[in-house]
Amino acid sequence: MSFTVGQALKHMVEVFTVAGIPSPHVDAEFLLEHVTGLSRVRQLMDRHVFLEHEEWNRLQDYMQRRANREPLQLLLGYTYFYGLRLKVREGVLIPRPETETLVSLVLERNMKMRPRVLDIGTGTGAIALALLHEIPFADVTATDINPVCVQLARENAKALDLQLQVAQGDLFAGLDGFFEIVVSNPPYLPEEDEASEMPELKYESNIALYSGSDGLGLARRIVRESVLHLKSGGILALELDPRNVRILEAELDRKSWAVSEVYQDLTGQERFLVAMKR
Ligand code: GLN
Repeated sequence: MSFTVGQALKHMVEVFTVAGIPSPHVDAEFLLEHVTGLSRVRQLMDRHVFLEHEEWNRLQDYMQRRANREPLQLLLGYTYFYGLRLKVREGVLIPRPETETLVSLVLERNMKMRPRVLDIGTGTGAIALALLHEIPFADVTATDINPVCVQLARENAKALDLQLQVAQGDLFAGLDGFFEIVVSNPPYLPEEDEASEMPELKYESNIALYSGSDGLGLARRIVRESVLHLKSGGILALELDPRNVRILEAELDRKSWAVSEVYQDLTGQERFLVAMKR
């Protein structure tokens, strides 16, 4: 049995819709492009062209996996973040578009030609690599406690030809000296959210997503330890759960932190906290 491009798309959209996938058309088109190399425009023009038998088999395999709610990015093997193509891997947080705003907030504050920057819990390396790409003279270090992330961040740096230093460790462990900028998108979801999570999140590890009953476990530690590792006038920039941003801001010790500001993501939710060390 042979299928045309158009029939294959229609079939996938039906299967994805039944499976409850939020964007069935987009996912079908991306997977078809991944297997056949046909761009989305080409898919439209060539909708009556028959797929090769082998293409159809591979496509069905991807379709089944996506219908089982494996994230699209893991099936493709990459995603885009701040214009950079990044490899992704099971067990590592897939970079999210909202985190691009965190990068922009740091870039707005960049006060020096050669700032020393630390990205804590770097995952794929997304934030650190985006910053390094935008501020080529920056001295950027990334850490993660998960060796799989350390390995992946190094691979991404190499593929992009960016000189990122990646270290395995818990927050600041093993790092000397002071930083102008500490940035982090830590795990920040309250643990109880796991019961109602999207099935796709199963493919990222829980230590990348959840942090204590209120979601602030790791963020509080980062705030405390940043006081010891930021220069005077240095910036801490965090992505947080919108339920928690104002809570953490209210907890900032004003003896250590001069000013703080809360910023919204593109959907208007308060998601970012930026604070300046005294
Ligand atoms: N924004 C992610 C989500 O809602 C959570 C990422 C994180 O915990 N840092 O799935």
